[in-house]
Amino acid sequence: MLTHIQGRTYYLPGPVNIGVYLYPEGGAAVIDTGLDDESGRRVLKALRAADALPLRNIVNTHSHADHCGGNAFLQKRTEALTWAAPLEAAVIENPYLEPLYLSGGDPFPALKNKFLMAKPSRVDRHLESENTGPEPLRVVPLPGHAPEQVGVLTPDAVLFCADAFFSGATLDKYYLPYFARVQPALATLEKLATFEADFFVPSHGELTTDPGPVVAANKTRLTAVSEHILALLAEPHSREDLVARIAGDKGIALNTDQYFLSTAAVAAHLAYLAEGGLVRHRFEGGRLIWQRATGTP
Ligand SMILES: [Zn+2]
Repeated sequence: MLTHIQGRTYYLPGPVNIGVYLYPEGGAAVIDTGLDDESGRRVLKALRAADALPLRNIVNTHSHADHCGGNAFLQKRTEALTWAAPLEAAVIENPYLEPLYLSGGDPFPALKNKFLMAKPSRVDRHLESENTGPEPLRVVPLPGHAPEQVGVLTPDAVLFCADAFFSGATLDKYYLPYFARVQPALATLEKLATFEADFFVPSHGELTTDPGPVVAANKTRLTAVSEHILALLAEPHSREDLVARIAGDKGIALNTDQYFLSTAAVAAHLAYLAEGGLVRHRFEGGRLIWQRATGTP
């Protein structure tokens, strides 16, 4: 069932909130499609029940499987055009790229699961920059969690903000939230802190009228993780050692997916610290190890 937010803007609440905009002239756009065929079916059913067909546009905020996994089903059954930013589109069209980049080589079978590898689907239009989405929806670049993640602002002042921030409960559960790039993620959080909208709808968790506290909590966590890694690098560590230390210190239970997401998250912090000249890498006994740059306080 569609849940009303404001004006012509609705959403389908779930493990991944799916945004819905109903055009004044009839038909609908959706923001993301959920994990799989089942979520695609749920979208279609909800639109039919609301007399909101045809589905005219699908905007994917980013390429993670839980956001674009319903595309294939919806593309089979509707004429909807699918929109995504170019780099995200490359992964949506070639889902093998996700486990490939996470593992840094050919992914072993356990990594090729539906949470890390959606069914392949088509992207018809690239979101090259701000305001390139299907009218009257406005695309708002929110890079960080994914390199070219976007949010979608509807004419009703509702911003669907994808995975730009995570709820306090998620931050507590995982400690190390997945951000592919730290500096853009921090800039995105800054942007959201002053962004003018009536409602902010994250893909996971509750919608809010005031994202200030949750945005601040995400910023604090990102900074704390960078500082944690920098402190650990008083001693030399490989990236894998750092994952093990952080998991141990913070009691993170690692499974296969979590391990590779954590490794990628730590890689993002290392890149951020290296860009700032705070850490350096070298080779020792055939291992790539990181250490705090000399002269760093
Ligand atoms: Zn995501």
